[in-house]
Amino acid sequence: MQLRTMEAVSVVHQIRCDRCGKKAERGGLGFAEMMSISFDAGYGSIFGDGNRVEVDLCEACLRDTLGAWLRVRTVADTSLATKLAAFKPEVHGGEFPSSQSAGPV
Ligand SMILES: [Zn+2]
Repeated sequence: MQLRTMEAVSVVHQIRCDRCGKKAERGGLGFAEMMSISFDAGYGSIFGDGNRVEVDLCEACLRDTLGAWLRVRTVADTSLATKLAAFKPEVHGGEFPSSQSAGPV
């Protein structure tokens, strides 16, 4: 049995690009295209041991700053059908039963 209750949850209402200042509101145009990068720096990091690193960028600033190193692929390149088509049992392990091994033992 599950007993449920209502709780207030913190959500991002607006994102502002740290580079150009462009703002996008939750549910509005461009909100889904904003990119947030955050991580905890590791031991010996150039950002300082354990420091939190964060940046919010609009997609234009993301392209203008990191574009040379972004790997942009089409939806077709990342689809499940494309990945499955690239699977070759003879190369990738051959764990699927062959027609010769499908008979009774
Ligand atoms: Zn921007």
